[in-house]
Amino acid sequence: MSTSVEKKAELSPEVVRFLNTSVHRSYVGGRWVEAADGETFDVVDPGSGKKIATVTSLKKADVDKAVDAAADAFKNSGWATMPIPERCAILHRIADAVEKQIHNFAQIESLDCGKIYAQAVADIQNFVDTFRYFADLAQAFNYRSVIAVKHHEAWVARHPWGPCGFIIPWNFPFLLAGWGLAPALAAGNTCVLKPAEDTPLSALYLCHVLQEQELLPSGVLNVVTGFGETAGAALSSNPKFRRMSFTGSPEVGRLVAESCGRNLVPVKCELGGKGAAVIFEDVDIAATAEKLVQAITFHSGQVCCDATRWLVHRDIYSDFVDECITRMKSVQIGYPMDPGSQMGPLVNAKQVSRVLGYLKKGVAEGADLILEGGAATVPGKSGFYVKPALLAGSLNNVAAREEIFGPVAFIAPFSSEDEGLQLANDTEYGLGNSVWSQDLARCARVAENFRSGNGWINAHNVIVHGVPYGGIGKSGMGGGVVSPDTLNDYLRPISVVRPL
Ligand code: ADP
Repeated sequence: MSTSVEKKAELSPEVVRFLNTSVHRSYVGGRWVEAADGETFDVVDPGSGKKIATVTSLKKADVDKAVDAAADAFKNSGWATMPIPERCAILHRIADAVEKQIHNFAQIESLDCGKIYAQAVADIQNFVDTFRYFADLAQAFNYRSVIAVKHHEAWVARHPWGPCGFIIPWNFPFLLAGWGLAPALAAGNTCVLKPAEDTPLSALYLCHVLQEQELLPSGVLNVVTGFGETAGAALSSNPKFRRMSFTGSPEVGRLVAESCGRNLVPVKCELGGKGAAVIFEDVDIAATAEKLVQAITFHSGQVCCDATRWLVHRDIYSDFVDECITRMKSVQIGYPMDPGSQMGPLVNAKQVSRVLGYLKKGVAEGADLILEGGAATVPGKSGFYVKPALLAGSLNNVAAREEIFGPVAFIAPFSSEDEGLQLANDTEYGLGNSVWSQDLARCARVAENFRSGNGWINAHNVIVHGVPYGGIGKSGMGGGVVSPDTLNDYLRPISVVRPL
Protein backbone atom coordinates (compact mmCIF):
# COMPACT_ATOMS: atom_id res chain seq x y z
CA MET A 1 0.00 0.00 0.00
CA SER A 2 1.41 3.43 -0.93
CA THR A 3 2.20 6.13 1.61
CA SER A 4 -0.40 8.54 0.26
CA VAL A 5 -3.06 5.89 0.75
CA GLU A 6 -1.85 5.24 4.30
CA LYS A 7 -2.01 8.96 5.10
CA LYS A 8 -5.64 9.10 4.00
CA ALA A 9 -6.71 6.34 6.41
CA GLU A 10 -7.75 9.12 8.84
CA LEU A 11 -11.29 10.31 7.99
CA SER A 12 -11.34 13.73 6.29
CA PRO A 13 -13.40 16.61 7.78
CA GLU A 14 -15.76 16.42 4.77
CA VAL A 15 -16.42 12.73 5.38
CA VAL A 16 -16.88 13.27 9.11
CA ARG A 17 -19.38 16.06 8.37
CA PHE A 18 -21.22 13.85 5.87
CA LEU A 19 -21.38 10.91 8.29
CA ASN A 20 -22.70 13.20 11.02
CA THR A 21 -25.85 13.90 8.97
CA SER A 22 -28.69 12.86 11.30
CA VAL A 23 -30.80 11.24 8.56
CA HIS A 24 -29.38 10.70 5.07
CA ARG A 25 -32.24 11.57 2.74
CA SER A 26 -32.87 10.49 -0.83
CA TYR A 27 -32.23 12.87 -3.72
CA VAL A 28 -35.29 13.44 -5.92
CA GLY A 29 -35.87 16.22 -8.44
CA GLY A 30 -32.87 18.12 -7.08
CA ARG A 31 -34.20 18.06 -3.51
CA TRP A 32 -33.49 15.99 -0.40
CA VAL A 33 -36.54 13.96 0.59
CA GLU A 34 -37.57 11.59 3.35
CA ALA A 35 -40.02 8.70 3.20
CA ALA A 36 -43.59 9.93 3.68
CA ASP A 37 -43.95 7.49 6.59
CA GLY A 38 -40.69 8.75 8.16
CA GLU A 39 -39.11 5.28 8.30
CA THR A 40 -35.35 4.88 8.25
CA PHE A 41 -32.80 2.07 8.32
CA ASP A 42 -29.31 1.77 9.76
CA VAL A 43 -26.13 1.38 7.76
CA VAL A 44 -23.26 -0.48 9.39
CA ASP A 45 -19.48 -0.48 8.87
CA PRO A 46 -18.81 -4.18 8.07
CA GLY A 47 -15.27 -3.83 9.43
CA SER A 48 -16.35 -2.83 12.93
CA GLY A 49 -19.99 -3.98 13.01
CA LYS A 50 -20.90 -0.46 14.18
CA LYS A 51 -23.66 1.77 12.84
CA ILE A 52 -22.35 4.64 10.72
CA ALA A 53 -25.51 6.17 9.26
CA THR A 54 -29.30 6.39 9.37
CA VAL A 55 -30.89 6.46 5.93
CA THR A 56 -34.45 7.18 4.79
CA SER A 57 -36.42 4.12 3.69
CA LEU A 58 -38.57 5.05 0.69
CA LYS A 59 -41.78 3.21 -0.16
CA LYS A 60 -43.62 2.81 -3.46
CA ALA A 61 -45.36 6.22 -3.44
CA ASP A 62 -42.04 7.97 -2.66
CA VAL A 63 -40.20 6.02 -5.36
CA ASP A 64 -42.93 6.75 -7.92
CA LYS A 65 -42.31 10.47 -7.34
CA ALA A 66 -38.64 9.97 -8.23
CA VAL A 67 -39.62 8.28 -11.50
CA ASP A 68 -42.00 11.18 -12.20
CA ALA A 69 -39.13 13.61 -11.51
CA ALA A 70 -36.91 11.75 -13.99
CA ALA A 71 -39.73 11.68 -16.59
CA ASP A 72 -40.33 15.39 -16.11
CA ALA A 73 -36.61 16.19 -16.38
CA PHE A 74 -36.44 14.18 -19.58
CA LYS A 75 -39.17 16.33 -21.12
CA ASN A 76 -38.45 19.70 -19.62
CA SER A 77 -34.91 20.10 -18.27
CA GLY A 78 -33.20 20.40 -21.64
CA TRP A 79 -30.87 17.47 -20.85
CA ALA A 80 -32.19 15.21 -23.62
CA THR A 81 -32.04 17.93 -26.26
CA MET A 82 -28.78 19.56 -25.18
CA PRO A 83 -26.08 19.71 -27.89
CA ILE A 84 -24.02 16.57 -27.46
CA PRO A 85 -20.65 18.29 -26.86
CA GLU A 86 -22.25 20.37 -24.10
CA ARG A 87 -23.71 17.27 -22.40
CA CYS A 88 -20.39 15.47 -22.69
CA ALA A 89 -18.57 18.44 -21.19
CA ILE A 90 -20.86 18.14 -18.15
CA LEU A 91 -19.98 14.44 -17.81
CA HIS A 92 -16.30 15.40 -17.88
CA ARG A 93 -16.96 17.99 -15.18
CA ILE A 94 -18.64 15.31 -13.05
CA ALA A 95 -15.61 13.05 -13.54
CA ASP A 96 -13.28 15.90 -12.53
CA ALA A 97 -15.38 16.76 -9.46
CA VAL A 98 -15.36 13.14 -8.26
CA GLU A 99 -11.65 12.73 -8.95
CA LYS A 100 -10.90 15.87 -6.96
CA GLN A 101 -12.56 14.24 -3.96
CA ILE A 102 -11.35 10.72 -4.66
CA HIS A 103 -10.18 10.19 -1.10
CA ASN A 104 -13.47 11.36 0.42
CA PHE A 105 -15.42 9.02 -1.84
CA ALA A 106 -12.98 6.17 -1.13
CA GLN A 107 -13.24 6.63 2.63
CA ILE A 108 -17.03 6.52 2.41
CA GLU A 109 -16.92 3.44 0.15
CA SER A 110 -14.37 1.63 2.30
CA LEU A 111 -16.42 2.25 5.46
CA ASP A 112 -19.75 1.47 3.84
CA CYS A 113 -18.94 -1.83 2.16
CA GLY A 114 -15.84 -3.00 4.04
CA LYS A 115 -13.57 -2.57 1.05
CA ILE A 116 -9.78 -2.40 1.49
CA TYR A 117 -9.03 1.33 1.19
CA ALA A 118 -6.67 1.08 -1.81
CA GLN A 119 -9.32 -1.00 -3.63
CA ALA A 120 -11.94 1.64 -2.82
CA VAL A 121 -9.67 4.29 -4.37
CA ALA A 122 -9.41 2.13 -7.50
CA ASP A 123 -13.22 1.78 -7.65
CA ILE A 124 -13.71 5.55 -7.50
CA GLN A 125 -11.07 6.02 -10.20
CA ASN A 126 -12.95 3.46 -12.30
CA PHE A 127 -16.14 5.55 -11.95
CA VAL A 128 -14.19 8.61 -13.12
CA ASP A 129 -12.70 6.70 -16.05
CA THR A 130 -16.14 5.35 -17.02
CA PHE A 131 -17.61 8.86 -17.13
CA ARG A 132 -14.70 10.07 -19.25
CA TYR A 133 -14.91 7.04 -21.55
CA PHE A 134 -18.62 7.51 -22.30
CA ALA A 135 -18.31 11.31 -22.53
CA ASP A 136 -15.68 10.90 -25.26
CA LEU A 137 -17.49 8.03 -26.96
CA ALA A 138 -20.79 9.91 -27.09
CA GLN A 139 -19.14 12.86 -28.88
CA ALA A 140 -17.82 10.70 -31.67
CA PHE A 141 -20.84 8.38 -31.90
CA ASN A 142 -22.86 7.90 -35.06
CA TYR A 143 -26.43 8.99 -34.23
CA ARG A 144 -27.61 8.71 -37.83
CA SER A 145 -26.35 5.83 -39.93
CA VAL A 146 -27.23 5.56 -43.59
CA ILE A 147 -28.02 2.07 -44.89
CA ALA A 148 -27.38 1.22 -48.53
CA VAL A 149 -30.32 -0.86 -49.84
CA LYS A 150 -31.72 -1.34 -53.33
CA HIS A 151 -34.49 1.08 -54.46
CA HIS A 152 -34.80 2.81 -51.08
CA GLU A 153 -33.27 5.65 -49.19
CA ALA A 154 -32.85 4.44 -45.58
CA TRP A 155 -31.20 5.41 -42.35
CA VAL A 156 -31.36 4.73 -38.64
CA ALA A 157 -31.64 7.68 -36.28
CA ARG A 158 -30.94 7.29 -32.57
CA HIS A 159 -32.51 9.22 -29.68
CA PRO A 160 -32.34 8.91 -25.89
CA TRP A 161 -35.04 6.64 -24.50
CA GLY A 162 -36.33 8.61 -21.49
CA PRO A 163 -36.18 7.83 -17.78
CA CYS A 164 -33.99 4.80 -16.98
CA GLY A 165 -33.88 2.80 -13.73
CA PHE A 166 -30.83 1.25 -12.06
CA ILE A 167 -30.88 -1.23 -9.19
CA ILE A 168 -27.37 -2.05 -8.01
CA PRO A 169 -25.78 -4.33 -5.38
CA TRP A 170 -23.41 -3.73 -2.46
CA ASN A 171 -20.14 -5.23 -3.70
CA PHE A 172 -19.01 -2.39 -6.01
CA PRO A 173 -21.52 0.37 -5.19
CA PHE A 174 -19.83 3.36 -6.80
CA LEU A 175 -18.08 1.58 -9.66
CA LEU A 176 -21.36 -0.06 -10.72
CA ALA A 177 -23.24 3.22 -10.39
CA GLY A 178 -20.73 4.60 -12.91
CA TRP A 179 -21.11 1.67 -15.29
CA GLY A 180 -24.87 2.23 -15.32
CA LEU A 181 -25.24 6.00 -15.16
CA ALA A 182 -22.43 7.13 -17.48
CA PRO A 183 -23.72 5.58 -20.75
CA ALA A 184 -27.34 6.45 -19.93
CA LEU A 185 -26.54 10.09 -19.16
CA ALA A 186 -24.14 10.41 -22.10
CA ALA A 187 -26.97 9.30 -24.39
CA GLY A 188 -29.28 11.99 -22.94
CA ASN A 189 -31.47 9.88 -20.68
CA THR A 190 -32.52 10.73 -17.12
CA CYS A 191 -31.91 8.28 -14.27
CA VAL A 192 -33.22 6.89 -11.01
CA LEU A 193 -30.64 4.85 -9.11
CA LYS A 194 -31.33 2.60 -6.15
CA PRO A 195 -28.20 1.61 -4.27
CA ALA A 196 -28.27 -1.53 -2.10
CA GLU A 197 -29.54 -1.00 1.44
CA ASP A 198 -26.14 -2.06 2.82
CA THR A 199 -24.21 0.54 0.81
CA PRO A 200 -26.15 3.69 -0.11
CA LEU A 201 -23.62 6.30 1.05
CA SER A 202 -21.29 6.93 -1.90
CA ALA A 203 -24.23 7.52 -4.28
CA LEU A 204 -25.71 10.02 -1.80
CA TYR A 205 -22.35 11.78 -1.43
CA LEU A 206 -22.25 12.06 -5.23
CA CYS A 207 -25.60 13.87 -5.13
CA HIS A 208 -24.19 16.35 -2.58
CA VAL A 209 -21.27 17.07 -4.91
CA LEU A 210 -23.55 17.43 -7.94
CA GLN A 211 -25.90 19.72 -6.04
CA GLU A 212 -23.16 21.92 -4.54
CA GLN A 213 -21.51 22.42 -7.91
CA GLU A 214 -24.81 22.58 -9.85
CA LEU A 215 -23.49 20.03 -12.30
CA LEU A 216 -26.78 18.53 -13.55
CA PRO A 217 -30.26 19.99 -14.12
CA SER A 218 -32.70 18.94 -11.34
CA GLY A 219 -34.28 15.54 -11.84
CA VAL A 220 -31.67 14.24 -14.31
CA LEU A 221 -30.18 12.00 -11.61
CA ASN A 222 -32.30 10.82 -8.70
CA VAL A 223 -31.07 8.48 -5.96
CA VAL A 224 -33.67 6.55 -3.97
CA THR A 225 -32.75 4.64 -0.83
CA GLY A 226 -34.67 1.76 0.70
CA PHE A 227 -35.07 -1.98 0.82
CA GLY A 228 -35.14 -4.23 -2.20
CA GLU A 229 -38.60 -5.67 -1.61
CA THR A 230 -40.13 -2.19 -1.28
CA ALA A 231 -38.08 0.53 -3.02
CA GLY A 232 -36.47 -1.91 -5.49
CA ALA A 233 -39.76 -3.61 -6.34
CA ALA A 234 -41.40 -0.18 -6.79
CA LEU A 235 -38.76 0.75 -9.34
CA SER A 236 -38.96 -2.49 -11.28
CA SER A 237 -42.77 -2.30 -11.52
CA ASN A 238 -42.94 1.33 -12.63
CA PRO A 239 -44.29 1.48 -16.21
CA LYS A 240 -42.92 4.98 -16.83
CA PHE A 241 -39.36 3.73 -17.24
CA ARG A 242 -38.12 3.28 -20.77
CA ARG A 243 -35.22 1.03 -19.69
CA MET A 244 -34.22 -0.83 -16.53
CA SER A 245 -30.85 -2.16 -15.49
CA PHE A 246 -30.40 -4.60 -12.62
CA THR A 247 -27.16 -5.90 -11.12
CA GLY A 248 -27.37 -8.50 -8.37
CA SER A 249 -28.39 -12.08 -7.70
CA PRO A 250 -30.08 -14.29 -10.32
CA GLU A 251 -33.00 -14.81 -7.91
CA VAL A 252 -33.78 -11.10 -7.67
CA GLY A 253 -32.86 -10.60 -11.34
CA ARG A 254 -35.70 -12.96 -12.24
CA LEU A 255 -38.17 -10.94 -10.13
CA VAL A 256 -37.03 -7.66 -11.66
CA ALA A 257 -37.14 -9.07 -15.20
CA GLU A 258 -40.63 -10.52 -14.62
CA SER A 259 -41.85 -7.21 -13.30
CA CYS A 260 -40.35 -5.23 -16.19
CA GLY A 261 -41.67 -7.82 -18.64
CA ARG A 262 -45.21 -7.17 -17.48
CA ASN A 263 -44.82 -3.51 -18.50
CA LEU A 264 -42.72 -4.35 -21.57
CA VAL A 265 -39.89 -2.24 -20.16
CA PRO A 266 -36.62 -3.48 -21.71
CA VAL A 267 -34.37 -4.82 -18.94
CA LYS A 268 -30.67 -5.59 -18.74
CA CYS A 269 -29.55 -8.02 -16.01
CA GLU A 270 -25.96 -8.43 -14.79
CA LEU A 271 -26.11 -11.41 -12.46
CA GLY A 272 -23.83 -13.81 -10.62
CA GLY A 273 -21.12 -16.19 -11.74
CA LYS A 274 -19.22 -19.36 -11.04
CA GLY A 275 -16.12 -18.68 -13.11
CA ALA A 276 -13.46 -21.27 -13.85
CA ALA A 277 -9.71 -20.93 -14.31
CA VAL A 278 -8.32 -23.70 -16.55
CA ILE A 279 -4.63 -24.08 -15.67
CA PHE A 280 -2.37 -26.13 -17.96
CA GLU A 281 0.80 -28.02 -17.03
CA ASP A 282 3.20 -25.47 -18.61
CA VAL A 283 2.37 -22.49 -16.36
CA ASP A 284 4.67 -20.88 -13.80
CA ILE A 285 2.99 -22.58 -10.85
CA ALA A 286 3.94 -20.06 -8.15
CA ALA A 287 3.03 -16.99 -10.26
CA THR A 288 -0.32 -18.45 -11.34
CA ALA A 289 -1.23 -19.54 -7.80
CA GLU A 290 -0.37 -16.02 -6.61
CA LYS A 291 -2.73 -14.42 -9.15
CA LEU A 292 -5.63 -16.75 -8.40
CA VAL A 293 -5.26 -16.34 -4.64
CA GLN A 294 -5.15 -12.57 -5.11
CA ALA A 295 -8.33 -12.79 -7.20
CA ILE A 296 -10.31 -14.93 -4.75
CA THR A 297 -9.30 -12.79 -1.76
CA PHE A 298 -9.84 -9.46 -3.61
CA HIS A 299 -12.83 -7.82 -1.88
CA SER A 300 -13.13 -11.05 0.15
CA GLY A 301 -14.31 -12.97 -2.91
CA GLN A 302 -17.48 -10.86 -3.22
CA VAL A 303 -16.95 -10.47 -6.96
CA CYS A 304 -19.38 -12.03 -9.44
CA CYS A 305 -16.78 -12.66 -12.16
CA ASP A 306 -14.23 -14.29 -9.82
CA ALA A 307 -12.53 -17.62 -10.59
CA THR A 308 -14.13 -19.86 -7.99
CA ARG A 309 -13.47 -23.18 -9.73
CA TRP A 310 -9.75 -23.82 -10.20
CA LEU A 311 -9.28 -26.60 -12.76
CA VAL A 312 -5.66 -27.72 -12.73
CA HIS A 313 -3.84 -30.13 -15.06
CA ARG A 314 -3.23 -33.41 -13.24
CA ASP A 315 0.59 -33.21 -13.81
CA ILE A 316 0.93 -30.12 -11.61
CA TYR A 317 -2.16 -30.55 -9.40
CA SER A 318 -0.52 -31.35 -6.08
CA ASP A 319 2.25 -28.72 -6.42
CA PHE A 320 -0.39 -26.17 -7.38
CA VAL A 321 -2.53 -27.01 -4.35
CA ASP A 322 0.49 -26.56 -2.04
CA GLU A 323 1.36 -23.17 -3.53
CA CYS A 324 -2.23 -21.98 -3.14
CA ILE A 325 -2.60 -23.13 0.44
CA THR A 326 0.63 -21.40 1.53
CA ARG A 327 -0.53 -18.14 -0.02
CA MET A 328 -4.14 -18.33 1.21
CA LYS A 329 -2.89 -18.92 4.76
CA SER A 330 -0.68 -15.85 4.66
CA VAL A 331 -3.32 -13.35 3.50
CA GLN A 332 -3.43 -10.52 6.06
CA ILE A 333 -7.03 -10.17 7.21
CA GLY A 334 -7.70 -6.78 8.78
CA TYR A 335 -9.76 -3.63 9.08
CA PRO A 336 -10.20 -2.19 5.57
CA MET A 337 -8.85 1.27 6.44
CA ASP A 338 -5.76 -0.09 8.22
CA PRO A 339 -2.57 -0.07 6.17
CA GLY A 340 -1.29 -3.60 5.73
CA SER A 341 -4.72 -5.24 5.57
CA GLN A 342 -5.00 -7.36 2.43
CA MET A 343 -8.49 -8.77 2.92
CA GLY A 344 -11.35 -7.07 4.75
CA PRO A 345 -14.70 -8.36 6.01
CA LEU A 346 -17.78 -9.64 4.22
CA VAL A 347 -20.53 -7.07 3.88
CA ASN A 348 -22.82 -8.32 6.65
CA ALA A 349 -23.59 -11.15 9.07
CA LYS A 350 -25.95 -12.77 6.55
CA GLN A 351 -23.07 -13.20 4.09
CA VAL A 352 -20.90 -14.74 6.82
CA SER A 353 -23.62 -17.35 7.48
CA ARG A 354 -23.94 -17.93 3.74
CA VAL A 355 -20.21 -18.56 3.28
CA LEU A 356 -19.85 -20.77 6.36
CA GLY A 357 -23.05 -22.59 5.37
CA TYR A 358 -21.62 -23.45 1.94
CA LEU A 359 -18.46 -24.86 3.54
CA LYS A 360 -20.62 -27.13 5.71
CA LYS A 361 -22.92 -28.17 2.86
CA GLY A 362 -19.95 -28.82 0.57
CA VAL A 363 -18.30 -31.11 3.11
CA ALA A 364 -21.63 -32.85 3.79
CA GLU A 365 -21.80 -33.64 0.04
CA GLY A 366 -18.30 -35.17 0.12
CA ALA A 367 -15.88 -32.30 -0.64
CA ASP A 368 -12.47 -32.23 1.06
CA LEU A 369 -11.89 -29.05 3.02
CA ILE A 370 -8.16 -28.78 2.31
CA LEU A 371 -7.94 -25.28 3.77
CA GLU A 372 -10.46 -24.93 6.54
CA GLY A 373 -11.54 -21.28 6.36
CA GLY A 374 -14.15 -20.31 8.93
CA ALA A 375 -14.79 -17.16 10.94
CA ALA A 376 -11.80 -14.86 11.51
CA THR A 377 -11.17 -12.35 14.27
CA VAL A 378 -9.51 -8.98 13.95
CA PRO A 379 -8.32 -7.53 17.29
CA GLY A 380 -10.50 -4.67 18.50
CA LYS A 381 -13.06 -5.05 15.70
CA SER A 382 -16.27 -7.02 15.76
CA GLY A 383 -16.83 -7.02 11.99
CA PHE A 384 -17.83 -9.78 9.60
CA TYR A 385 -14.51 -11.48 8.91
CA VAL A 386 -13.87 -14.94 7.43
CA LYS A 387 -10.69 -16.76 6.40
CA PRO A 388 -9.99 -17.99 2.86
CA ALA A 389 -10.99 -21.62 2.30
CA LEU A 390 -10.19 -24.23 -0.34
CA LEU A 391 -12.36 -27.25 -1.16
CA ALA A 392 -11.44 -30.16 -3.41
CA GLY A 393 -13.16 -33.17 -4.95
CA SER A 394 -15.94 -33.92 -7.40
CA LEU A 395 -17.36 -30.81 -9.06
CA ASN A 396 -20.79 -32.30 -8.65
CA ASN A 397 -20.96 -30.59 -5.27
CA VAL A 398 -23.11 -27.72 -4.06
CA ALA A 399 -20.00 -25.62 -3.29
CA ALA A 400 -18.75 -26.13 -6.86
CA ARG A 401 -22.11 -25.51 -8.52
CA GLU A 402 -23.59 -22.55 -6.63
CA GLU A 403 -22.24 -19.03 -6.18
CA ILE A 404 -20.83 -18.59 -2.65
CA PHE A 405 -19.68 -14.94 -2.79
CA GLY A 406 -16.80 -15.26 -0.35
CA PRO A 407 -13.07 -16.12 -0.31
CA VAL A 408 -13.74 -19.76 -1.15
CA ALA A 409 -12.41 -21.70 -4.14
CA PHE A 410 -13.06 -25.26 -5.30
CA ILE A 411 -10.10 -27.05 -6.91
CA ALA A 412 -10.18 -30.13 -9.17
CA PRO A 413 -7.79 -31.87 -11.60
CA PHE A 414 -8.25 -32.47 -15.35
CA SER A 415 -6.24 -34.51 -17.86
CA SER A 416 -6.86 -33.08 -21.34
CA GLU A 417 -7.80 -29.81 -23.08
CA ASP A 418 -11.23 -31.22 -23.89
CA GLU A 419 -11.86 -32.26 -20.32
CA GLY A 420 -10.68 -28.89 -18.94
CA LEU A 421 -13.02 -27.04 -21.27
CA GLN A 422 -15.91 -29.39 -20.60
CA LEU A 423 -15.57 -28.96 -16.81
CA ALA A 424 -15.34 -25.17 -17.15
CA ASN A 425 -18.51 -25.07 -19.25
CA ASP A 426 -20.47 -27.44 -17.02
CA THR A 427 -22.35 -24.70 -15.14
CA GLU A 428 -25.60 -22.77 -15.41
CA TYR A 429 -23.61 -19.54 -15.10
CA GLY A 430 -21.70 -17.89 -17.95
CA LEU A 431 -19.82 -14.76 -16.91
CA GLY A 432 -16.00 -14.98 -17.03
CA ASN A 433 -13.58 -17.91 -17.36
CA SER A 434 -9.82 -17.86 -17.82
CA VAL A 435 -7.23 -20.14 -19.39
CA TRP A 436 -3.60 -20.25 -18.26
CA SER A 437 -0.77 -21.63 -20.44
CA GLN A 438 2.35 -20.56 -22.31
CA ASP A 439 0.85 -22.02 -25.49
CA LEU A 440 -1.09 -18.99 -26.76
CA ALA A 441 -2.72 -20.93 -29.61
CA ARG A 442 -4.17 -23.34 -27.05
CA CYS A 443 -5.23 -20.38 -24.90
CA ALA A 444 -7.06 -18.74 -27.81
CA ARG A 445 -8.79 -22.03 -28.67
CA VAL A 446 -9.98 -22.64 -25.13
CA ALA A 447 -10.93 -19.00 -24.46
CA GLU A 448 -13.08 -18.79 -27.60
CA ASN A 449 -14.91 -21.98 -26.68
CA PHE A 450 -15.89 -21.01 -23.16
CA ARG A 451 -19.65 -20.84 -22.81
CA SER A 452 -19.58 -17.44 -21.14
CA GLY A 453 -19.65 -13.75 -21.96
CA ASN A 454 -15.93 -13.32 -21.32
CA GLY A 455 -12.81 -15.45 -21.82
CA TRP A 456 -9.52 -14.27 -20.34
CA ILE A 457 -5.97 -15.46 -21.12
CA ASN A 458 -3.31 -15.70 -18.38
CA ALA A 459 -5.30 -13.35 -16.16
CA HIS A 460 -8.72 -13.22 -14.49
CA ASN A 461 -11.20 -10.37 -13.91
CA VAL A 462 -9.97 -8.27 -16.84
CA ILE A 463 -12.53 -5.57 -17.52
CA VAL A 464 -11.40 -2.84 -19.89
CA HIS A 465 -13.37 0.19 -21.07
CA GLY A 466 -14.16 -0.40 -24.73
CA VAL A 467 -14.42 -4.22 -24.53
CA PRO A 468 -17.97 -5.58 -24.06
CA TYR A 469 -18.46 -7.25 -20.67
CA GLY A 470 -21.60 -9.21 -19.84
CA GLY A 471 -22.95 -12.62 -18.91
CA ILE A 472 -25.11 -15.32 -20.43
CA GLY A 473 -27.40 -17.93 -18.87
CA LYS A 474 -27.76 -17.43 -15.13
CA SER A 475 -25.12 -14.66 -15.33
CA GLY A 476 -27.12 -12.15 -17.28
CA MET A 477 -29.21 -11.06 -20.23
CA GLY A 478 -30.05 -8.03 -22.26
CA GLY A 479 -26.61 -6.64 -23.04
CA GLY A 480 -23.42 -5.84 -21.20
CA VAL A 481 -21.50 -2.82 -19.94
CA VAL A 482 -18.47 -0.56 -20.59
CA SER A 483 -18.38 -0.70 -24.41
CA PRO A 484 -19.83 1.15 -27.42
CA ASP A 485 -22.65 -1.45 -27.41
CA THR A 486 -23.65 -0.10 -24.00
CA LEU A 487 -24.03 3.45 -25.28
CA ASN A 488 -26.13 2.06 -28.13
CA ASP A 489 -28.37 0.27 -25.59
CA TYR A 490 -29.27 3.67 -24.16
CA LEU A 491 -30.27 5.04 -27.56
CA ARG A 492 -33.66 4.32 -29.11
CA PRO A 493 -33.28 3.46 -32.79
CA ILE A 494 -35.79 4.46 -35.44
CA SER A 495 -35.45 3.25 -39.01
CA VAL A 496 -36.50 5.79 -41.61
CA VAL A 497 -37.22 4.50 -45.15
CA ARG A 498 -38.29 6.16 -48.44
CA PRO A 499 -38.92 4.07 -51.56
CA LEU A 500 -37.11 5.56 -54.55
P1 ADP B 1 -27.06 -9.52 -3.40
O1 ADP B 1 -27.26 -10.99 -3.47
O2 ADP B 1 -25.81 -9.02 -4.02
O3 ADP B 1 -27.44 -8.90 -2.07
P2 ADP B 1 -29.57 -8.82 -4.41
O4 ADP B 1 -29.95 -9.36 -5.70
O5 ADP B 1 -30.22 -9.33 -3.18
O6 ADP B 1 -28.03 -8.94 -4.40
O7 ADP B 1 -29.69 -7.23 -4.37
C1 ADP B 1 -29.24 -6.40 -5.41
C2 ADP B 1 -30.11 -5.18 -5.45
O8 ADP B 1 -31.45 -5.59 -5.68
C3 ADP B 1 -30.13 -4.37 -4.15
O9 ADP B 1 -30.19 -2.99 -4.47
C4 ADP B 1 -31.43 -4.81 -3.52
O10 ADP B 1 -32.00 -3.83 -2.66
C5 ADP B 1 -32.32 -5.00 -4.72
N1 ADP B 1 -33.46 -5.91 -4.51
C6 ADP B 1 -33.58 -6.92 -3.61
N2 ADP B 1 -34.79 -7.50 -3.72
C7 ADP B 1 -35.46 -6.85 -4.70
C8 ADP B 1 -36.76 -6.99 -5.31
N3 ADP B 1 -37.60 -7.91 -4.89
N4 ADP B 1 -37.07 -6.16 -6.31
C9 ADP B 1 -36.20 -5.23 -6.76
N5 ADP B 1 -34.99 -5.03 -6.22
C10 ADP B 1 -34.60 -5.83 -5.22
